[in-house]
Amino acid sequence: MHKIDIELIEMTMDIMKYAINRISISQPEIGVPKSADDLKKLVGETITEKGIGGEVAFNLWKEHLVKANVPVDHPMHLAFVPASPTRAAIMFDLVTSASSIHGAYWMEGAGGIFCENEAMKWLVSLTGLPSGAFGVFTSGGTAANLSAIVTAREYWRSLNSENQFKKGLIITSIGAHSSVKSMAKVIDADVLMVKTEERLESAEVQKVINNLSEEDRTRLFAIVATGGTTNAGIIDDLLGIANICENENIWFHVDAAYGGGALAAKSVRHLFTGIEKADSITIDPHKWLFSPYDCGAVLYKNPELAKQAHSQEGSYLDIFKDEGSNGFNPSDYQIQLTRRVRGLPLWFSLAMHGTNKYEESVERGIELAQIASKLIKNANHLELVREPGLSCVLYRRIGWKPEDYTNWTFENHRKGLALVTPTKWEVDGTYETISRFCFINPDTTEADIEVILDSML
Ligand SMILES: *Cc1c(COP(=O)(O)O)cnc(C)c1O
Repeated sequence: MHKIDIELIEMTMDIMKYAINRISISQPEIGVPKSADDLKKLVGETITEKGIGGEVAFNLWKEHLVKANVPVDHPMHLAFVPASPTRAAIMFDLVTSASSIHGAYWMEGAGGIFCENEAMKWLVSLTGLPSGAFGVFTSGGTAANLSAIVTAREYWRSLNSENQFKKGLIITSIGAHSSVKSMAKVIDADVLMVKTEERLESAEVQKVINNLSEEDRTRLFAIVATGGTTNAGIIDDLLGIANICENENIWFHVDAAYGGGALAAKSVRHLFTGIEKADSITIDPHKWLFSPYDCGAVLYKNPELAKQAHSQEGSYLDIFKDEGSNGFNPSDYQIQLTRRVRGLPLWFSLAMHGTNKYEESVERGIELAQIASKLIKNANHLELVREPGLSCVLYRRIGWKPEDYTNWTFENHRKGLALVTPTKWEVDGTYETISRFCFINPDTTEADIEVILDSML
């Protein structure tokens, strides 16, 4: 399987050619999803005893399978939180794979981990966390949030022996990402949701704490604030909530999986004031820092606490803790043991382009949201629902019912025009279905936005 032969060399050339083509086109096609049955009909049996051969399999990929995907970096993919990995990062993702690096321990992955850590230093510097703060790259925001709340709970349980037997409690708001609730389920903690999708204010948080029963107050171990909500780009009152956490001795986690990239943008950096007081922070480079999937990050004010929570023990692992392997072991700070050095593409891209380019590209996303907002305000058939938050724009098509938005989404998708999906927003106590843009790709143009808005006429 691993022996070099002519077929393998040809295969390698074909794949490199494909990769070069793919990253050189500025406007990849928006693919159309098909059912598994339809795809099976198109490609037939691919896993067989003898193998169908690389050329055949690759052709099936190129002919049929790749076309059933929507590339996240399409300039008119403005749904969910899209992505826009740089060419440098994509190429280095290939290098990461080709280099076969085990990223759990310095002993095996020193060169790769060194690069990840250089990129991590830049991320930490964006947050303003005090010296000693550091972090690791994870598979994404979900894994970063889980790693952070496990650390928070472990710390809380270390404070007093009674906490060992208590079910923990987390306060957050309904603006928080779904993964916060899911990961609380994973660790069997309760979540108290403040009922606002607007900015979570510290006074509101204090009120919720004051209203807790004595027993619940002893179970409260963390508050999760959001640095850029996924739905609307709203940044909670981070400074106010940080101060509460400090006074009440509660872990302060900031989930900035989407918004974290905007820490690089001077125009909005002030909105994040207080993030420097967090105990832990989630940032997804695969969202707004132009990394390919998948690459999240979790940062800690005191990484030692993460190590106490996550460091794995096993006789077969002792060697990594030996003096001889002296170095930074990423597996000590998050839930995963064997790991890809997934921060490596970010490092290369940062090294190649410089941090100024990152700042400009994030600012462009914010600017595109402002441009869209102006176009919406000037259009008779549209209405802005709220001023843009970071790069998220919520707007309505006057007179449309929820099914109109759904039909419009699918029609644009079928035509290969754009991917823009509806969301819901609370207006006067009820949830209204509306349309939403999230801008990440700096190559999206004003003309692209106009075409999409015109398709709602
Ligand atoms: C996207 C997102 C997550 C989840 O991140 P994944 O990388 O998808 O696991 C968590 N929190 C926020 C605020 C997000 O926007």
